[in-house]
Amino acid sequence: MLSKKIEDALNEQINAEFWSGYLYLSMSCHFADKGLDGVANWFRIQFQEEQAHALALLDYLHARGGKVVLSSIADVPTSWESLKDAFTATYDHERKVTRMINNLYGLAEEEKDYATRQKLNGFVAEQVEEEENVTHIIDSLNLIGEDGAGLYQFDLQMAQRKYNAPNL
Ligand code: MG
Repeated sequence: MLSKKIEDALNEQINAEFWSGYLYLSMSCHFADKGLDGVANWFRIQFQEEQAHALALLDYLHARGGKVVLSSIADVPTSWESLKDAFTATYDHERKVTRMINNLYGLAEEEKDYATRQKLNGFVAEQVEEEENVTHIIDSLNLIGEDGAGLYQFDLQMAQRKYNAPNL
């Protein structure tokens, strides 16, 4: 059985993962509107990944006999000044999610809930990947600067991203 504390914390994380998805879907729509279809594709896949994170936690909560409580998803921003602005916001957001996962991990240890701790290992690894991917993208954007041909190539490259279900 799950403790009430863990059950509540997992429900909170499920909501946070859906919020992340909503944030990235909003970014996808924003860049689709700007004609950057590759970037829109990248964020749409990011949205799918976040849904997978939420569902993995939701399934786990069910498996442990917990009650899933879906609460309202807060508003997300709807526009960004630039690509750099959106990817910096993505990086900052992912760092925040990493802190949330770490806190959840710490709570699982406190509660001696080793199954939850083990489940979270995949999420810890996933966050390393998220931060690394976005760091590479920001590095590329710094190199490209305002170069139009560079941005065109960047958008084409972002169009290549395919969805792979995270292994959670
Ligand atoms: Mg996530």
